[in-house]
Amino acid sequence: MDQIKIGKFIADCRKKKNLTQMQLAEKLNITDRAISKWECGRAMPDSSIMLELCETLDISVNELLLGEEIKMENYNKQTELNLIELVKQKEESDKRLLNIEIVLMAISITFFIAIIAIVSFVDMPLWAKIVIGIGGFIQLLASTLICFRIEQKAGYYECQECHHRYVPTFFQSSIAPHMGRTKYMKCPKCGKKSWQRKIISKKDND
Ligand SMILES: [Zn+2]
Repeated sequence: MDQIKIGKFIADCRKKKNLTQMQLAEKLNITDRAISKWECGRAMPDSSIMLELCETLDISVNELLLGEEIKMENYNKQTELNLIELVKQKEESDKRLLNIEIVLMAISITFFIAIIAIVSFVDMPLWAKIVIGIGGFIQLLASTLICFRIEQKAGYYECQECHHRYVPTFFQSSIAPHMGRTKYMKCPKCGKKSWQRKIISKKDND
């Protein structure tokens, strides 16, 4: 999505409706600073306000996301393209998250080992060792939870039996035995247990 183009389009539509930024802001119950941010391309309208904004400006959500008017004959084609673009963006952000997970875990484990070394070899009172040790453990635990969350949310798991692709629940994903990112889980569709690979795309084309 081209935020600058979308911003210009919002400004054009607003002017066509003879509204100032302030007047549009009042209609939407938000600040005129927010409108100004959209129009400069520094932020996107929140999804919660998108529908109301489009209604006020007499445009479709598709037109807003594209940043231009869509002629009727191109409409279906364009809807499809926008959906594809959204899916592509989710896939890219999922890939990024999974990379962040690796970095986060590496940093966290290194940090934990460093703390164990400090507690073991540096001369300090027992209470200090306990406090530092607990701190190190908490940061490791927090990072692990964040990584579990990323693994659950980013991408999909594929059942080896029926090839159904799905997002497991946080609990299911966290307690499942795993090898790397492949997890042993029960498929919600066919009910069989299998080693399920992490897959970025929902569709069967990779
Ligand atoms: Zn299955």
